[in-house]
Amino acid sequence: MNKLKLVFATNNANKLKEVQAMLTNFEIVSLAEINCFDDIPETALTLEGNAILKANFITQKFGLNCFADDTGLEVEALNNEPGVYSARYAGKENNADKNMKKLLKELGENSNRKAQFRTAIALNLNGKQYIFEGICKGTILKEKKGNFGFGYDPLFVPKGFSTTFAEMDMNTKSTISHRGKAIEKLVTFLTTKS
Ligand code: IMP
Repeated sequence: MNKLKLVFATNNANKLKEVQAMLTNFEIVSLAEINCFDDIPETALTLEGNAILKANFITQKFGLNCFADDTGLEVEALNNEPGVYSARYAGKENNADKNMKKLLKELGENSNRKAQFRTAIALNLNGKQYIFEGICKGTILKEKKGNFGFGYDPLFVPKGFSTTFAEMDMNTKSTISHRGKAIEKLVTFLTTKS
């Protein structure tokens, strides 16, 4: 039987591989594979809004089932900023070092270091839309630790651990991370549907 084709609206090869490995009953294809090289707008004010914008762009332009994700770091003492602006917190170029530097400056000596990563996934499947969310709670250190990962990983210690995301191997991070949890919900949904 033919597998159901589902576009994952991403250009990130690692994310794609991770999801393909979890959804073997589906044909998960990337944007490049459907010849989509558009600059998809991410202009919404929420993570869910951006995930929906991306998924709808593909479904409307290509007539395909699709899912898209968006992630942000929400820091309690900063009114949940940088949130939807996490990639471009310190400027348009998405420079992780500059973003972390700005975060440390904004937090200063504040003793409330609570934060969470939150991922929203929007799925367009056969004319219906579904939203999935994954959260990983933790704290922000006062200085960077570790060399793995990306983004704000060197500053983030997940709850129940004593090391940052940047000190963990990818598998450990995936099992507890915001994205891992959101993808897990998507996978459970799709697996029970198929
Ligand atoms: P995206 O929606 O996955 O592209 O994530 C937006 C931004 O959030 C990234 O550019 C990073 O700055 C940050 N981010 C997302 N996921 C992670 C993570 O797992 N660790 C650290 N930073 C992340």
